Amino acid sequence: MRRKFVVVSALLVSCAPSTGGEVSADDFDALLRLRTPPAIDVWEVALCRVPADVEAGLYAPFEERLEIDASEIVDRLGPVSDYFGRWSQGAYTIEWRAGAPVALDSSGDPMSCVDQALDVSGGDVRGVLVVADAQHDTDQIGGWGRPGAECDEPCAASTSRRAVYIGASDFMPQWNDDPPLDLVQHELGHVLDWPHSATADGFANGAEVYDSPFDVMSDSAAPRTIDPDRRGAPGVLAVNLHSVGWLDRNEIEFVDPKRHPIDEWHDATRLVSTDSRSDDGSRLMVIPLGDRRFVTVELVAARNDNDHLRSSGVSIHLVEPADNNEGRRNVLLTDTLVGEERSWTWNDGGLEFAVGAVVEDGELVATDVRFRRLGTDRVERVDD
Ligand SMILES: [Zn+2]
Repeated sequence: MRRKFVVVSALLVSCAPSTGGEVSADDFDALLRLRTPPAIDVWEVALCRVPADVEAGLYAPFEERLEIDASEIVDRLGPVSDYFGRWSQGAYTIEWRAGAPVALDSSGDPMSCVDQALDVSGGDVRGVLVVADAQHDTDQIGGWGRPGAECDEPCAASTSRRAVYIGASDFMPQWNDDPPLDLVQHELGHVLDWPHSATADGFANGAEVYDSPFDVMSDSAAPRTIDPDRRGAPGVLAVNLHSVGWLDRNEIEFVDPKRHPIDEWHDATRLVSTDSRSDDGSRLMVIPLGDRRFVTVELVAARNDNDHLRSSGVSIHLVEPADNNEGRRNVLLTDTLVGEERSWTWNDGGLEFAVGAVVEDGELVATDVRFRRLGTDRVERVDD
């Protein structure tokens, strides 16, 4: 740990002088691959009929099949539209429509269902949600989502191949008409080109561990783990809100650490919660580290989709290009600060943060965040 700490701190010190905040903002946007979805996003829902004698593997060895049709699934998806409406602050509406059923072919590959559903989808349909009428086996993935190719507007799903596929589990009769919806929300996040996130500890374990309770793209079932009656996912990270145009650049404070002497505290940044509409502060603070790496700092309010959290607090993530995966980015939760003012040193970054008390006043949830960068001498002193 010590060697890593010193190396990263030295990197900060030795970087060439910054050429200005706008360059960092452009670099941040380039890493995020900004892509705004249509304001009205029309989705067709299709059931994928899975034969009773399907070969074991993806599907569980049960003969039970969903007996509801696509229109009954559409009836249950209202909260998903509400969720994205909330996090886009009204900028984005998903409209669900029932499509014709499709059938799994002899390959047993659900892509055969997805391809059929895309091929027959209407010209104004931007994506298809294919739900298998059979449950996946417990050791298999719940589903997947993909953003598809960009194409000329209006970009029909039959051309872009924009789609989500999931197994039947969340719509089985035991849920009555009140299904868990966090999986659909998560896969739609992939459609919006949002990557997974993990805590730094989870990421360090090497495997794909989705263990952050703050992010629909990580532990999407976190609210239900706390309260079995919950159906939806946690909220959306600010970095992802920005990537789809739901959090403007003018709501972000970019702070270049190289403009501040070592050990000197940066002026406090007033942060309002990511779910806020307030003009009283920034919804996101971004600190460029160089090498296309950024630290993002945001205030997560413990309410609505995030009311499973113990308290409101500041989340700090490292956002960096992903290894071996062109154009993707890693998002790592490095720590969460809550409540009273205290300092914390981010081991990997040579930065120290101080977070003020979280103020809650009606709809407004806000706090002040300061940081300073630590010099090599100090880093060695801290570690010794
Ligand atoms: Zn995923």
